[in-house]
Amino acid sequence: MSAADLPVEIEHVLVTQEQIAQRISELAAEIDADYAGRNVLLVGVLKGAIMVMADLSRAMSSDPAVDWMAVSSYGVGTKSSGVVRILKDLDIDISGRHVLVVEDIVDSGLTLSWLLRNLNSRGAASVEVCTMLRKPEAARVEVRVKYVGFDIPAEFVVGYGLDYAERFRSLPYVGVLRTTP
Ligand code: 5GP
Repeated sequence: MSAADLPVEIEHVLVTQEQIAQRISELAAEIDADYAGRNVLLVGVLKGAIMVMADLSRAMSSDPAVDWMAVSSYGVGTKSSGVVRILKDLDIDISGRHVLVVEDIVDSGLTLSWLLRNLNSRGAASVEVCTMLRKPEAARVEVRVKYVGFDIPAEFVVGYGLDYAERFRSLPYVGVLRTTP
């Protein structure tokens, strides 16, 4: 895509649509192989994970079950605090299930570490994480993320499910938001 086609708010494209498609099929194959013989339940975190969930689940050959949670993370500005409230809980009882949490992005990892504690306390047989994007700060927290699409720099990104004030979720690529007017 040429720079002329980008919305003015997008500084540049960080991960292209083609790179996403390629990585999704690699991750799907890896996950299918790792969960061979076990039924995996994909748990998406609304709303950011909608695109990665749609693409990943369709790229998998094992017909995974899918459920969703919505959480709100209290924080200052764009930083989360790890204090989390459930806005929408799972419909499915996960006790004894092999859960794979599907995330859009892991930044501080605080939201995710709370979510993992919560899911583990419900007696899941296993809980692993797949995230499309991971920022450098995530490496500093004790959260095991088994499947990572792309490690990206510490910049605010939008597109492929990620928003800024509910905009840009439907962009098919991941772009860096222009910060100066
Ligand atoms: P954490 O608890 O890992 O710091 O926060 C993760 C959540 O913060 C993500 O699920 C996402 O909603 C939001 N977030 C973190 N970094 C970005 C970013 O670069 N762009 C957007 N749009 N949201 C982000």
